[in-house]
Amino acid sequence: MRSVLVSGSGIAGLTTAYWLAKDGWKVTIVEKAKGERLDGYMMDFYGNGWDVAEKMGIEEKIRNIHYPIIDVQIVKNNGQKYFSFPVSRMIKALDNKYRPIRRPDLEHILLGEVKKFPVTILYDTVVKDLENTPALVKVKLSSGIQRSFDIVVGADGVHSNIRKLVFGQESLFSHYLGYIFSFFHTKRDKSIGDNLCLYQEPNRQFGMYPYSENEMDVLYVLKSKEHKRMQKSEYKPFLTKEIKGMGWIAEEILENTPSEKVTFLDTTEQIRMDSWYKNRVVLVGDAGACPTLAAGQGSSMAMTEAYVLTKNLREFEDIDKAFKGYQEELSDYVSKIQIKGAKFAKSFIPSSTLGVIFQRWFMMVAMSPLFARKSLNWFTEKKIL
Ligand SMILES: Cc1cc2nc3c(=O)[nH]c(=O)nc-3n(C[C@H](O)[C@H](O)[C@H](O)COP(=O)(O)OP(=O)(O)OC[C@H]3O[C@@H](n4cnc5c(N)ncnc54)[C@H](O)[C@@H]3O)c2cc1C
Repeated sequence: MRSVLVSGSGIAGLTTAYWLAKDGWKVTIVEKAKGERLDGYMMDFYGNGWDVAEKMGIEEKIRNIHYPIIDVQIVKNNGQKYFSFPVSRMIKALDNKYRPIRRPDLEHILLGEVKKFPVTILYDTVVKDLENTPALVKVKLSSGIQRSFDIVVGADGVHSNIRKLVFGQESLFSHYLGYIFSFFHTKRDKSIGDNLCLYQEPNRQFGMYPYSENEMDVLYVLKSKEHKRMQKSEYKPFLTKEIKGMGWIAEEILENTPSEKVTFLDTTEQIRMDSWYKNRVVLVGDAGACPTLAAGQGSSMAMTEAYVLTKNLREFEDIDKAFKGYQEELSDYVSKIQIKGAKFAKSFIPSSTLGVIFQRWFMMVAMSPLFARKSLNWFTEKKIL
């Protein structure tokens, strides 16, 4: 029986674990978090990732997740609606193969599928050291356990530990796209109703949506030249400074949220690598090819990559051939999404008031009943599975 260690139980790690376990591999997952991650943000889920979900038979589970969100509403600085469009329009435009879904909810569905197999999941555990030989990978875990595996899959996100251990430090591969973002969940502000509300002003964006009767997620995206990583204790003070004077209720919401709830802040870094594998270690998802939130397809890419990697491991007994097949099948697809994402990032949040007005107008036309299908299909990378 072939054995694999998967580092990370996000979308990429769980999808990889599912397919390999189904193919009879002995799968062990190590996950840095202390348990299943419950924090997260809403994602647009569609495209090739949806096709993988269908192959896994989980598309109805995804469709059955409901949030109290009817419309996407673009608001002015006094909170008044500028324009809105129903989420149902997006679902229809993408032929019911689209859902807005929070990352932890998709991960929960994937975890349920993984648990159908005898997979070992070690939470609160990371790889401390590894020796990547042509014959096997010797791994030392933070728990002190030492073991060997046929392959190791690095699915531990944009700041991947496996990438650092095997390929080198992050700065060799990361390309900053100009934004800092922070999300957290907090008490639902009733003024947003059943809407995903977005407010934009030059260089700053603020969004909120309810995900249950009493709770909502909040997301700030800020244009910034600086992109240093911060400690958790710095998140709220940094955000408070950066959103000073911001319109609508952007300041009030942050002020009323306790510091310990502001749990996530990061910079938009695309990870671009010439090769996603070395000997018996391979990267999947954001670890090897993070497209950033500007691409709007990272979860879909993560599932597609996991599917194609495991398909190649099924087709080729030889690990090198399998990894090569994975790289060759996907490098074009990945670079197209990354290039589009980097281009989109340039105009994602305009720097001038005129730019913001133009953006709103453009979005209103793009999401109108006449153009929604065309716009969303332009954004979606072509079908490859
Ligand atoms: C604000 C925001 C909005 C987004 N919107 C969209 C969208 O609309 N549509 C879309 O498709 N995508 C979107 N994305 C991108 C998408 O969320 C990611 O591309 C996707 O989650 C990548 O999955 P992953 O499994 O590769 O990485 P991750 O989700 O980062 O998972 C990595 C896992 O590895 C674990 N880990 C980290 N370090 C270690 C370690 N040292 N050892 C063990 N485990 C470790 C983490 O705890 C985590 O469980 C968005 C991203 C952001 C930030």
